[in-house]
Amino acid sequence: MTASEETTTLDRLKPGPALPLPVHWEYAPALEARDHVHLEPRYGLFIGGRWVEPESKRTLPTIDPATEEVLAEVAEGGPADVHRAVEEARRAYDKVWRKTRPAERAKYIFRIARMIQEKSRTFAVLESMNGGKPIKESRDIDVPLAAAHFFYYAGWADKLEYAFPNRRVSPLGVAGQIIPWNFPLLMAAWKLAPALATGNTVVLKPAETTPLTALLLAEVIREAELPPGVVNIVTGGPATGAALVDHEGLDKIAFTGSTEVGKIIQRKIAGTGRRLTLELGGKAPNIVFEDAPLDQAVEGIVNGIYFNQGHVCCAGSRLFVQESVAEPLIRKLGERIATLRVGNPLDKNTDIGAINSRAQLEKIEELVASGVEEGAELHQPACALPERGFWFPPTFFTGVAQSHRIAREEIFGPVLSVLTFRTPEEALERANNTPYGLSAGVWTDKGSRILELARKLKAGVIWANTYNKFDPTSPFGGYKESGFGREGGLHGLRPYVRLD
Ligand code: NAD
Repeated sequence: MTASEETTTLDRLKPGPALPLPVHWEYAPALEARDHVHLEPRYGLFIGGRWVEPESKRTLPTIDPATEEVLAEVAEGGPADVHRAVEEARRAYDKVWRKTRPAERAKYIFRIARMIQEKSRTFAVLESMNGGKPIKESRDIDVPLAAAHFFYYAGWADKLEYAFPNRRVSPLGVAGQIIPWNFPLLMAAWKLAPALATGNTVVLKPAETTPLTALLLAEVIREAELPPGVVNIVTGGPATGAALVDHEGLDKIAFTGSTEVGKIIQRKIAGTGRRLTLELGGKAPNIVFEDAPLDQAVEGIVNGIYFNQGHVCCAGSRLFVQESVAEPLIRKLGERIATLRVGNPLDKNTDIGAINSRAQLEKIEELVASGVEEGAELHQPACALPERGFWFPPTFFTGVAQSHRIAREEIFGPVLSVLTFRTPEEALERANNTPYGLSAGVWTDKGSRILELARKLKAGVIWANTYNKFDPTSPFGGYKESGFGREGGLHGLRPYVRLD
């Protein structure tokens, strides 16, 4: 070897020739199989431990929002069906469940939790098919958290005297539970697990667009041999929900959904003596101070608003950025959302799936148009959207004023409003300037600032230097028009018990 051929360590560390840019790193499709999901062409109602035909004789199609393909016909329960379900729940409560030893109740709930785990793949695929959410979210978040809720509350069933020391704890009786479409299985778990653990029986009404995982859960409940009538599932739309709220045979209503419907229900329940919990909408502030780690904050912002297509009640939909870091943060955010992959929910690489329904897409489009009309600046990456199905790209607005509709109304889609502030006092005042109060995020290096804001922000859940973290041991719920009552944690037992 000649001297000129010799390479030194230093030479080897020199950068090689530049790669031709731009480099397009395309992901190959990584589709989750759906052939293990067996769907019936038509589903009845789950009442008294078995499948029954609806007396209403009516059905509704339920679709895949990514393809608009009809997946199945699902019964639309009428008042007579609701009545039948409530009667069965009452009979099961009086004759069986209230007398079942707490440790025995726990065994059934543990069994349901384990069976959800065993069928987790089917649950996840079905959740993505019926709701449009990316498989990586239903697989890693919705389904494991649903199982975790059943496990957690199963553990409480025979320890209620420790949850409420020196009190006599008894169940309320029969609970009517109404849930939305954004986390269909998880919301069913949030509702059912604490109600069953405390000895109540239930009539559950899933949302009209996403009934299929609740119906699979009915099958699990049947296989778990839960005594007939302890859980009844009546599918249908708003009229079915209204029939449940109107039924006088219930001791409690638990509702998760829009503030608008929550208000209607509260008016109906007023003066009846029935218990009520409401988990409603939100317009959460996510506040980034100048001392926050910006790259980490961008990840938190993305997770806060684009997780589950923004169909999240606690989504960080109002971003407040301290003026001194607004320019780099907005630039980084723009670059980051250009890398999000929008498309087939069953592809494991998809970040943003399909919008849940045509109606929801139209609502998002209408609010986004109002943002443009009112003078905010729209930012969207160039991304091709599938032709069929319901889609909306990740979007944010800058130049947003507090008076704009996009800063005040819940969009419930992948749309973020960016506002700026100068002082912590201003951030706090503007963050609290909303009728909602479900959640908030704070990004800063200063622990003292986090603690101070946590005290002063009017929100049920506050995340610091993170966002959208959920755990069954941790209570969740709102202030002001975001509702009342808590789900999760020890607090989640309270709405289902009478204390003497
Ligand atoms: P929605 O209020 O339209 O419907 C929710 C449920 O109520 C559905 O099952 C629906 O069929 C039923 N319903 C509709 N009208 C009814 C009536 N008059 N009486 C009884 N039941 C009725 O809400 P949605 O569009 O399905 O869900 C989105 C809303 O839910 C958002 O506002 C979101 O913030 C909220 N949400 C809140 C939480 C929370 O924990 N706070 C969680 C998820 C969703």
